[in-house]
Amino acid sequence: MWGYTLCMDNKYLALPVRGKYRITEGWLYSDQEKKIHGLDFHGGVDFAQPRNSPVFAAADGWAIASYSLNPFFDEKTGKLRRFRGKIVGMGLGNFVQIYHPQTKRFTQYGHLEKISEKIPFAKPRKLKDGRLIPMGHKINPRDLKNYPKAIWVRCGEVIGYVGDSGLTWEYNDYPNRPDHKKHPSWDETHVHFEEFVRNSRGAKQRRDPFAIYDTNEKYPWPGHKGRKGDDGLWIK
Ligand SMILES: [Zn+2]
Repeated sequence: MWGYTLCMDNKYLALPVRGKYRITEGWLYSDQEKKIHGLDFHGGVDFAQPRNSPVFAAADGWAIASYSLNPFFDEKTGKLRRFRGKIVGMGLGNFVQIYHPQTKRFTQYGHLEKISEKIPFAKPRKLKDGRLIPMGHKINPRDLKNYPKAIWVRCGEVIGYVGDSGLTWEYNDYPNRPDHKKHPSWDETHVHFEEFVRNSRGAKQRRDPFAIYDTNEKYPWPGHKGRKGDDGLWIK
């Protein structure tokens, strides 16, 4: 059976979505999306679903929530990157990060329309260059139980709702989402899901937490599985 749809005995991760979904990006960005932002490496799995579909914790753990956005610059011109003439902003938007003490791994859920009210929101910091940097994501996992913005969630608990925050296209996305009919995102609504470990050199993502590449009928580009020796490649 492909993936784990429910929180079951001795399965580490459950899917973050329920019901019908499409996987729209895998370990490497599709050529279509590369045209928009120019990036190669995706480092997660995108599950597309209608706006406001619930998103579920993939395992028990300490959850924190914040917002991130980066304007980014074209490597060649040094100017802000544009797509169809509009400035592209890219970040996790409203996101939840969960630390799972049982495995010492993290999962992260990005581009949420909104975050569950149960999880306290830690306001991002605004840097001079316009970046909005999330708060709380560098806390030592050992300190999470004493961190007022962290809360314990169970596998399968709703942590937020599917959206397209952080994928801005010449509009501000924080603190209030604009009317998405007037200000559409450059991408479809989805949850960006990733699993990672953190060490002294930073975070290292797991390439394929749900074995999508092994049984890839749901993966949109069977020939597009990533390159051998990719930095950050981590297969169970
Ligand atoms: Zn993504």
